[in-house]
Amino acid sequence: MNRAVVLGGGLAGVLAATVLARHVDEVVVVERDHFPAAPGPRRGLPQSHHSHVLVTGGAEALATLLPGTLQELYAHGAHRRGLPGDSLILSGDGWFHRFDCAAYFISCTRGLLDHVVRRRAGVRVRQGVQVLGLTGDARRVTGVRVTGAETIEAGLVVDATGRRSQAPRWLAEIGGPPIEETTVSTGLAYATRICQAPPGLDDLPAIMLHPTPGLPRGATLLPLEGGRWVATLTGTQGSAPPLDEAGFLAFARSLRDPIVAELLAMTAAEGPIRPFRDTANRRRHYERAALPAGFAAIGDAAVAVNPLYSHGMSVAALGALRLDRELRCAGAGPGLQAALVAEAEPSWRMAVARDRHVNGTEPEPQVSEHARKVRARLARARLGSAELAAELFHAQALIPAPPLDGAARFHALAGEPAPPLTSDQARRQYPALTFGATTPR
Ligand SMILES: Cc1cc2nc3c(=O)[nH]c(=O)nc-3n(C[C@H](O)[C@H](O)[C@H](O)COP(=O)(O)OP(=O)(O)OC[C@H]3O[C@@H](n4cnc5c(N)ncnc54)[C@H](O)[C@@H]3O)c2cc1C
Repeated sequence: MNRAVVLGGGLAGVLAATVLARHVDEVVVVERDHFPAAPGPRRGLPQSHHSHVLVTGGAEALATLLPGTLQELYAHGAHRRGLPGDSLILSGDGWFHRFDCAAYFISCTRGLLDHVVRRRAGVRVRQGVQVLGLTGDARRVTGVRVTGAETIEAGLVVDATGRRSQAPRWLAEIGGPPIEETTVSTGLAYATRICQAPPGLDDLPAIMLHPTPGLPRGATLLPLEGGRWVATLTGTQGSAPPLDEAGFLAFARSLRDPIVAELLAMTAAEGPIRPFRDTANRRRHYERAALPAGFAAIGDAAVAVNPLYSHGMSVAALGALRLDRELRCAGAGPGLQAALVAEAEPSWRMAVARDRHVNGTEPEPQVSEHARKVRARLARARLGSAELAAELFHAQALIPAPPLDGAARFHALAGEPAPPLTSDQARRQYPALTFGATTPR
């Protein structure tokens, strides 16, 4: 294979191109947007105004793909937060105790992350060029049509144009198979504000207030580079967070705990409050179709999960690593798409299993009273058991669960659960939240 063309220069596209460059003579990345010269949001990536964390599985994949990237992010002020070791979390079942485990995430602006990745990847991107369609037929994709009436021929075309990808239509236009699509939407709406942290409080633990069926509103407050915080409020079921300052703060005060509202009241806003509503889980099942040779899809273009789960960037990095392995071992054969999508499977399953029942989209499966009680007990026990919490957070961070033998699980479940934490007790686990004169409350 001489040339590969990657459609889209987002994270999935740049990382796929990094890997492809090891296997083909030439890689062309086509991106309709123009990248900013310095770290910052851009038009083609509207979500870059919103909080983005890179969970452990993705961070490790990124470190393997582009060694030194994490160090550079930290050097530019990105924060590492343990899950739940450096995160104050109010789940639907109560406050988590503070435990250390291998799960963590990196928090910085999306602009910084993309900037560092692009610089280290060093792949050449043709900016300001829009993909209009594919060339080829039902048996083989031979290239892409782009603006300027140009055709770029390629042995492999990788679609990485994100959650609004038009590739199913482009395939249909050349006689390709229909692509099944699954969409599961909770109607989640985001509103995000970036702000200057008050002096002495820039090293905040991450704060996460989860929605519950009774109050489908949540919030995260995360540290960013440059002594800033990013606050994201979320709501479903007609409970979209307002975009005006007073409404935003009132929404934060309406949550199950006032900590986000109290901390926000100490900050100075930086820029407007930004909305985001296209949050559905969306999967294009390319792996089920008899795809023409020479075509694959990666990142959000194939599987986009509800951003609430913070997995998309990690899945993009894991997908690129898998692309490397597949090209090394099996080449770009018929099994490639199924292999790529396997990297998104844990994230997709987790998101869809939870979101399917939000808003009554699908009725909850019937479970016995006994099963319901065991589940509730497990959820309560998890708040105060390091072993059980690690199981949960490892899954959320897309890393293998630590081995938990049957006896330890039985003990965690059968023993008396740790007493639930009050809001004050939960806060006092974090010295940064009991800081001198600026202590909230
Ligand atoms: C509000 C929000 C918050 C999120 N938070 C997190 C988080 O905390 N953690 C996390 O891991 N993930 C998060 N995500 C998901 C994450 O943003 C995506 O998974 C990630 O950006 C996927 O990268 P991608 O390269 O597949 O797609 P994108 O980043 O969307 O990139 C697609 C690229 O293709 C370009 N493009 C599109 N069409 C064309 C065309 N026709 N021709 C040429 N170029 C084209 C676009 O300009 C863009 O640059 C969040 C998403 C949203 C919406």
